[in-house]
Amino acid sequence: MLAPPAALPAEHLTPHDLVAYFRCPHEMELEKARKARGTGPVAPPVRTPADVVPLHRSPLLAPPVGAVRVNPGRIAFGPSDRLVYEDEGEDDLPVLFPTEQVALDPRFRVGRENLIDSSLGLAGRPDFVVALGTRSLVPVEYKETHLFIGYHEAHGRLFDTVQAIAQCQLVETVFGRRPPYGIVLYGDAAGSGEHEGWVEVPFGDPEAAWLRYALRQIRDDAIRAPVPAERNCGGCEPNGEGMCRYAAARYEGPHHRAWMAGQPR
Ligand code: SF4
Repeated sequence: MLAPPAALPAEHLTPHDLVAYFRCPHEMELEKARKARGTGPVAPPVRTPADVVPLHRSPLLAPPVGAVRVNPGRIAFGPSDRLVYEDEGEDDLPVLFPTEQVALDPRFRVGRENLIDSSLGLAGRPDFVVALGTRSLVPVEYKETHLFIGYHEAHGRLFDTVQAIAQCQLVETVFGRRPPYGIVLYGDAAGSGEHEGWVEVPFGDPEAAWLRYALRQIRDDAIRAPVPAERNCGGCEPNGEGMCRYAAARYEGPHHRAWMAGQPR
């Protein structure tokens, strides 16, 4: 009797994949092909069929955002808070703590600097993880852009929420402690910090359930359809390399996406 075929391993995904899929599933597919091209002799085939019908919006439902808290101004951590992780692969991160409040935790180094959730097939790196006193660990994602007025209306901010939820899950898995929220920090680098701010994205059962649903949907999606729109295509890196035949706009470089995110829809 033939043995049943072994189950294929779940597709490896990152918080960045989630963000790309949420913007345009085809972008995520092209990004993966682009990265694989640089790591192996044969790039994996792109699964989007040639006769695909482009979509007006991504098929992924938005994450819960009702309890997101928006805070204008400069973030201030307390004297008993500690920086326990910093992504050393990022060059332009701000200094959040004086050296006496930096206590890097070796548990974050186990996965070659990636935080890994093997059961969900998810791995990635927040910019920082901060221990708030002895109570909580929270991931912090830094964005150079400013805190947008009308946060909930701004197209790009939902992407930051997606990323924060995925990073909270990774911190919970690595430490066995659920972060109450993830922080997205807006540094307003171009505006000298005048419009800094930060957002607390809660991480409870609804957000964790949304994440599981999202990962399943992405893996089950055999089409990875394009969502051509100026706000998407202008910041899409595969578009910058001429990889997409559905592009609705020319690639405008890495800052285009942040700028577009602040525009009224
Ligand atoms: S260029 Fe536009 S349609 Fe094509 S992959 Fe990028 S975001 Fe999607």
